[in-house]
Amino acid sequence: MSKSNDSNLSEMRVGDLLMTEHSLGIIEVTPRQAGENSTAYVYSCGIHGNETAPIEIVNDMLADIESGVLKIKNPLLIIFGNIQAMREGKRFIENNLNRMFSREHKKYDIEDDEPKRAKEIEESISVFFNKYKNLNKVHYDLHTAIRPSKYPKFAVYPSLKEGRCYSKNQLKLLSTMGLGAVLLMHKFSPTLSYYSSTTHGAEAFTLELGKVEKFGDNIRPNFKDTEEVLRSLVSGEKFETSNKYPKLCQVKKELIRHEQEYDFKISDDTANFTEFKKGTVLASDSVETYKVEEDGEMIAFPNGNVKVKQRSGLIMRVVSPSDIQIV
Ligand SMILES: [Zn+2]
Repeated sequence: MSKSNDSNLSEMRVGDLLMTEHSLGIIEVTPRQAGENSTAYVYSCGIHGNETAPIEIVNDMLADIESGVLKIKNPLLIIFGNIQAMREGKRFIENNLNRMFSREHKKYDIEDDEPKRAKEIEESISVFFNKYKNLNKVHYDLHTAIRPSKYPKFAVYPSLKEGRCYSKNQLKLLSTMGLGAVLLMHKFSPTLSYYSSTTHGAEAFTLELGKVEKFGDNIRPNFKDTEEVLRSLVSGEKFETSNKYPKLCQVKKELIRHEQEYDFKISDDTANFTEFKKGTVLASDSVETYKVEEDGEMIAFPNGNVKVKQRSGLIMRVVSPSDIQIV
């Protein structure tokens, strides 16, 4: 990209599009036609550097935008997250980047790569969304997971600011993308999707799209439904959306390791969304014993080896669309 004269940003024209590089791996695509009915999209990937499928998907999109194969009608900000970790094939270098948003990066040494990158990413998103204040704002933060899951593709819906409702349109889009379940979070989380949701009022999600593989080992047809929707949304192309909701799983309780002596009954490789029968003891220490209270309670992100006072898992229960506020 060539340097423009009046700023530090690199700019390039591709047909009708203006491509602006905010910093390494953060590229804004501005279509000439963006109007009042447009939506401003952020697609981020590689926030965990070894989650390669989303990086391949977004990289291919970018190549197709640059070659003119993929037409863009809606403003788009593309973010490749942890570049150094990508190069080294690691989840992160020093610390988990997806725990550093909503200003949590201030708790780390700003000279380190990851807090610096978190700040850069937040600033780019702010510049982008502030430019499109009056448009709908949507952010998909794309991941893959190490842990198995009963629903290979699922979304995490960040806890919403008071007064906000879940989006019917987005839930159906997630289903169209092939996501089988949505985990409705219950409180603050230092993730990127929470940041966009809360700070910018975007419809923002963490999408878990399947299993972590090395670059080149991803079975791309497995991501086809998601990829097609992501492309159609930014190109403004019409497509058929599902009229089903994914399974809606609400956090019922956080399991906490209260002390060193901790009897955690769930093995670390237990699949997310594994269900338990009423009465099953899941975790126990002298402060608390958690026994499943109703049939069908499920676990997410179990990890009994966390430090004392940290979260060892989330207990979820299935809710029906009429149980929650959907608009
Ligand atoms: Zn991840």
